[in-house]
Amino acid sequence: MGYVIDGWELPSVPVADSADRFPVRRIYCIGRNYAAHALEMGSDLREPPFFFLKPSDAVVPGDDTTIPYPPKTSDFHYEGELVVAIGKGGKDIPETSANDHIFGYGLGLDMTRRDLQGAARDKGRPWDMGKGFDKSAPCGTIVPASKIGHPDKGTIWLKVNGKERQTGDISDMIWNVPESIAYLSGLVELQSGDLIYTGTPEGVGAVVSGDVIEVHIDGVGDLKVTVE
Ligand code: MN
Repeated sequence: MGYVIDGWELPSVPVADSADRFPVRRIYCIGRNYAAHALEMGSDLREPPFFFLKPSDAVVPGDDTTIPYPPKTSDFHYEGELVVAIGKGGKDIPETSANDHIFGYGLGLDMTRRDLQGAARDKGRPWDMGKGFDKSAPCGTIVPASKIGHPDKGTIWLKVNGKERQTGDISDMIWNVPESIAYLSGLVELQSGDLIYTGTPEGVGAVVSGDVIEVHIDGVGDLKVTVE
């Protein structure tokens, strides 16, 4: 069987020390998962986690990449995040075995048209055009858990043009990775190839054309993205 139009390449991201890549099926993102960022976005703490998605082809793979300044915004925000790569699917995954479903970890940017997200939120409309636009999901090299284990603490920072703008520790997540996998897999069946962007610390802000964004997480890696 063929297709009546041309197909397209499966989105994928690089894997450390491997010529093979991690194919991307879905991109789940957790909202407001660090206390200080939740407060800066005006929400209560320890509400149940909530999720949104980006299209898989919004991923921008690689550790040193460029993204375009997107259309229809004047408030283009960075959010530096730990990314979890799911290697084995499942539904109703218990917290205690959640790590068994993780292939590895990487660094990501949940790029956001904050003005469009805010307008949608105020009207009770979907966030998709604020969050799920083209090239909104840079993701660096995935490091297998078989090499680094399952990091549950470690500094995360983000710099713009060399100046620190976000800093935190991944242990500050309101819902940690196993809790998030348990909750999300109760809503939808996770599959291998899914990425989960686990939320961002406080200090989100805008970038403009020419800015260079760098993200670091201890023990996971570094990501550099230049806004064209
Ligand atoms: Mn985010």
